[in-house]
Amino acid sequence: MDCRVGGIIPVSSTLLERSHLTSSLVSSGLRCTPQRLEVFEVVSHSGDHPTAEEIFKRAKRTMPDLSFATVYNCLSTLVQHGLVRQVTLDRAPARFCPNMREHCHFYCDHCGAVLDIETPTGGSSHLAPLPQGYRISSYNLSLRGTCPACTGSALGPRCD
Ligand SMILES: [Zn+2]
Ligand SMILES: [Zn+2]
Repeated sequence: MDCRVGGIIPVSSTLLERSHLTSSLVSSGLRCTPQRLEVFEVVSHSGDHPTAEEIFKRAKRTMPDLSFATVYNCLSTLVQHGLVRQVTLDRAPARFCPNMREHCHFYCDHCGAVLDIETPTGGSSHLAPLPQGYRISSYNLSLRGTCPACTGSALGPRCD
């Protein structure tokens, strides 16, 4: 039984293919180096919003020679070119998200899980009434709380 609750955004599998990742790099004007592709692939396959350190560990499994500095540089380039989103939460290391659609993040205070949550219809214009003449170009909304697993199974959705 599918117990995914509404509002959580699933990762689209068509966006994960290597050929798709390669063409995304190229159409963003980036050289498709093996390291860059590897880092991009790791982030794209990670639905859990890994930190740079975690991405480094995962990428090292297929590319043992990779250095942390290289991973860090690749991540900065991918973020600058709008291919990967950097998620900054208070007092925590930056995390990386492959979902470039408008969305916000739910952070579980107990287990540290970060989930993509759909923004209300209407997006940023519904967030706050702005004074006349102000326009939002981007925003970063994060919600904190407790995920169903940490709330306790009695209160969460049943999966069996
Ligand atoms: Zn949790
Ligand atoms: Zn996200």
